[in-house]
Amino acid sequence: MKEKKNKKQLFFATANKNKTAEVRQILGDHLQLLDLNDIELNQELEENEDTLEGNALSKARQALQLTGIAACIAEDTGLEVKALNGDPGVHSARYAGGNRSDANNIKKLLSELQDKEDRTARFRTVIAYIDETDEFLFEGIVNGTIGTAPEGEGGFGYDPVFIPDGYNHSFGILSPEIKNEISHRGRAFQSFFKWYRLRF
Ligand code: IMP
Repeated sequence: MKEKKNKKQLFFATANKNKTAEVRQILGDHLQLLDLNDIELNQELEENEDTLEGNALSKARQALQLTGIAACIAEDTGLEVKALNGDPGVHSARYAGGNRSDANNIKKLLSELQDKEDRTARFRTVIAYIDETDEFLFEGIVNGTIGTAPEGEGGFGYDPVFIPDGYNHSFGILSPEIKNEISHRGRAFQSFFKWYRLRF
């Protein structure tokens, strides 16, 4: 009970329940992680920058102003495909245009890669941390290849077509434990948490 009271609060500027669930699993029981679904804030955070770093910082700054919670983090993730010169990158969420649709984004990606031999790609996550005095950035990368067809029902977004290096199956098939250990978000949050624990 006492331990719960003393737990530090950290606000995660996302409404994406998949991301929050992953991050709660990565951070464990050490912090109380709140997200947009936990507070009554009916406002979308803007992400209009042209880099992952810019978007992560912008969302973290908006969260600090809007929530009044003393420490906030935000992240932005992009899938960077070599043969597409780094696309969809910062535009990964709306790659297929219109509203966000994982299925349409995957369809477009597979069609763009149809005649390409090199299917290497990487996921990159940037985390921005902000409090009243400081701003810090953390990065996590996982290298892999894009499969020729979606496989598996696990994960979200581009997971069914992303096969991390060293594995024969996509993140759609691999367990959440494996994904959290080796993924872009897992690595970015492991490095954030290592820093956070030394600082606080
Ligand atoms: P955002 O960071 O929420 O803007 O995500 C950008 C795009 O990448 C969206 O289409 C997400 O579904 C996708 N995405 C983000 N993280 C992951 C992941 O861990 N696996 C697969 N797709 C992801």
